[in-house]
Amino acid sequence: VTSWHGKNITVAGLGVSGISAARALAGLGAVVTVVDNGDGDAHRARAAELAEQGIEVRLGRLADGAHAGEVLPEGTELVVTSPGWKPDSPLFAAAAEAGVDVVGDVEIAWQLRGSTPGRKAAPWLAITGTNGKTTTTQMLASILKAAGLRTAAVGNIGTPIVDVVTGEEEYDVLAVELSSYQLHWAPSLRAHSAAVLNLAPDHLDWHGSMEAYAADKGRIYEGNTVACVYNVADRATEDLVAEADVEEGCRAIGFTLGAPGPSMLGVVDGILVDRAFVENRQKNAQELAEVKDVNPPAPHNIANALAAAALARAFGVEPRAVRDGLRNFRPDAHRVAHVDEVGGVVYVDDSKATNTHAAEASLAAFETVVWIAGGLAKGATFDELVRKSAKGLRGVVLIGADRALIAEALARHAPEVPVVDLERTDTGAMLAAVREAARLAEPGDTVLLAPACASMDMFANYNKRGDAFADAVRELAAAKA
Ligand code: ADP
Repeated sequence: VTSWHGKNITVAGLGVSGISAARALAGLGAVVTVVDNGDGDAHRARAAELAEQGIEVRLGRLADGAHAGEVLPEGTELVVTSPGWKPDSPLFAAAAEAGVDVVGDVEIAWQLRGSTPGRKAAPWLAITGTNGKTTTTQMLASILKAAGLRTAAVGNIGTPIVDVVTGEEEYDVLAVELSSYQLHWAPSLRAHSAAVLNLAPDHLDWHGSMEAYAADKGRIYEGNTVACVYNVADRATEDLVAEADVEEGCRAIGFTLGAPGPSMLGVVDGILVDRAFVENRQKNAQELAEVKDVNPPAPHNIANALAAAALARAFGVEPRAVRDGLRNFRPDAHRVAHVDEVGGVVYVDDSKATNTHAAEASLAAFETVVWIAGGLAKGATFDELVRKSAKGLRGVVLIGADRALIAEALARHAPEVPVVDLERTDTGAMLAAVREAARLAEPGDTVLLAPACASMDMFANYNKRGDAFADAVRELAAAKA
């Protein structure tokens, strides 16, 4: 058990997770300094609040002109980083030079769990993957709730995880969404059971290579006690299980959209079935739910439901609660969300498709599509996505900073598909994009915003991008009415 009292800790980043870590650690008697390069009004207001708790905050530029976020404060014994900070940040180089460890807020949460007197530490059921993390984590929480367990969906979502594990409320089990960044900085985390949903190139600019990205994702299996859940259709996830060092008796459990083999969950005749955790010895499979209990019942989402079910079953949840939990589940906004139908054309917002793997899944869910794409590519290439999706494309409208990469892939693999390159990166481009898409679309088509890119070149985040799309569709509908 770490003693935090008097420990000199530097927190990198004055964001939500940084503030929560700083508060919790200061509350345990640590001497906390928060560093951040920003020094706008919002930063100053937050700094003032933390100062009341005796937490020092260094913002903007220091007296000698250096950026506050790049200088390791004297005497630092541990650095706690926020997810967005790149591993090659100068602060971490300085920490390495000084022999100081760098960890993330998830590591802190893991170490602080159960630190409240009289409270048990709740086990973690952890989820990562390139796509489907939030959805699967929320499905899992919904299933656990249906089983009568006290739980919350945390990690990359909701209340900062440090607040959850140190807060008033008591939990039986936590459904924890973990990004590759968070796993990178959480060396001692040991989940009860964990799932890697899928593995496709993303965030390669942050991790440096696909190998490094996969290795960080694979950390989620380290030390698992009951089950390592993998995707049968994605060999890379199974390889990560094979490489992981797990507790004795921990099992590899697969999920598949086809009929399941032993130690798998899968689908038979429209029924989600479990052949891994069979309770009734008379049967060799447990029926869990029907495909139509999954919202929405698109293939990628059924895979998410199976992964959530596998984790819940590993925790001992009954089949009936799996069904009830899936039925109760409603997806978050901007994830293949139906916006409106205008002139026989359906408009769908999948702004959350921020990489090619997600865009591929949503393009595959519709027959004929006018595709609105573009934004920040984050080091991705688009050839495979375009090759696999070309058949269903009625047309493409491109916006955003890296749209040329998509245009080039379209020219290579789908030269017959009409492409409108708006050559715009301003916020107003979304309205123009929707108008162009409406022009290209024919009745029965779907206009799909699935950018395959991050949004920050044009919008504050993917929510704002999706909202802009929905606003544009409403304007279009009003003009037609
Ligand atoms: P994450 O938290 O990993 O970003 P979300 O659940 O928010 O995942 O979904 C992100 C995007 O990925 C959505 O656009 C959705 O359509 C798509 N998606 C969800 N699940 C999958 C999956 N299993 N495979 C591929 N794409 C998926």
